[in-house]
Amino acid sequence: MTTTGEDREDGNSMSTSHRFTNCTISLRKKGSDRYIKISYPQRFGCYSEIETPKALYQFNLNGEIKFIRYKGERWLDPQEWLKRTLGNDWVYYSTGGYTGVFEAIGEYYLPNLQYPTNSLIGGKPFAHPSIRQAINTWHDDLVEIRRETGDAPADIREFLDQVVTNNPVVLAEKARRLFNISGGRVSVLPPDARHCDYDILPLNIASGCLYKCRFCKVKNTTPFSEKEPADIDDQLQSLRDLCGEDLANYNSVFLGDHDALLCSSKLLLYGVTSAYERLALYSSFMRGVQFFLFGSVDSFLSAEDTLFEELQRIPADFYINIGLESADQQTLEILGKPLKAVQVEEAFKKIQMINDRYTNIEVTANFLMDRKLPANHYRQLHRLLGETIPRKKPKGSVYLSPLKFDSPSRELVFEFNHLKLQSRLPTFLYIIQRL
Ligand code: SF4
Repeated sequence: MTTTGEDREDGNSMSTSHRFTNCTISLRKKGSDRYIKISYPQRFGCYSEIETPKALYQFNLNGEIKFIRYKGERWLDPQEWLKRTLGNDWVYYSTGGYTGVFEAIGEYYLPNLQYPTNSLIGGKPFAHPSIRQAINTWHDDLVEIRRETGDAPADIREFLDQVVTNNPVVLAEKARRLFNISGGRVSVLPPDARHCDYDILPLNIASGCLYKCRFCKVKNTTPFSEKEPADIDDQLQSLRDLCGEDLANYNSVFLGDHDALLCSSKLLLYGVTSAYERLALYSSFMRGVQFFLFGSVDSFLSAEDTLFEELQRIPADFYINIGLESADQQTLEILGKPLKAVQVEEAFKKIQMINDRYTNIEVTANFLMDRKLPANHYRQLHRLLGETIPRKKPKGSVYLSPLKFDSPSRELVFEFNHLKLQSRLPTFLYIIQRL
């Protein structure tokens, strides 16, 4: 039964809140319009919410469940929550007791994933009964809430119909539509996608990669090829249709897949400007526009100044992540990465130059970690990150990526901390996430 209702003009659209006996339902609430890094639960973008004495459920603008947090002692920590991604994965954001998480990954919350990944830290939250219950019963809970609020005003009834219609089967099907748009699931997102909390739309402007490195667990078998502009247009139209009203919450695009930088400048810029316009990134509720992509040593070394100058003219931030892996020749050979150490060294130097020269472009680098890699791999890493950089820099993050999946290791965390102390660049662990 309805007890109170209030409308509030806030920005461009009206937010509405209604209190019922057993819950409060708020439509079109406004969270932060910037992706800020903060040590308490903060929602980004525009969303709707159902709060009960037991739980908080939050939804995107299509009425699709996005966040769940239970209240009370049965939840692991009142500051932690579950998030459902566009690819329909549940991710548990934990504080890690706030000890060392920010230093390790550059974020206050640690994403715990339900699929194999290379994280060195974190527990097993998905084994916890309340987390399992939240994932398994959220839809039944919403059906019950709709039944209990039968006399709700029209906008609330419409919203409840929508959230109940978006059941687990419908959401899984929608994720399949997403994967079909770009020709398959995005198996890995760049580490820099943490800057938009992985709320990112995938646009494949190419497929495949050059090297097919032996160590790599995320590669596909496709030889590198560029997409046609018509294919890019089709993907953008399909993304618009898929996102519906929630498109207003997106300001970030991942240009896929494994080496978008290898595309011709013309195609890359076509992908950027088309996404900018067709996805109306400039008018997103979230301020700023961000593009994320991977590059290889070859594509980065051959990228001409004119490309970076063109990117600098676009009102957006660009994050280009390059897989360097190692500056030690023996390690590159062990990894099956067909590169020479001297090329890695050259790419590392060019990264510093691009980062110094262009304010809206940040090139970041990945290196690998494993207990079995030769000692010279670590010697070279210490030299590159320490001795070759004259002073501390705030830009140009370096990500250390453990080679093995599902293999937490204290020794590697110790090695990472040691490297981080020596490094004059922001240095973090890379937790591989898919979309
Ligand atoms: S590390 Fe990059 S270049 Fe090497 S196989 Fe994997 S995706 Fe391809």
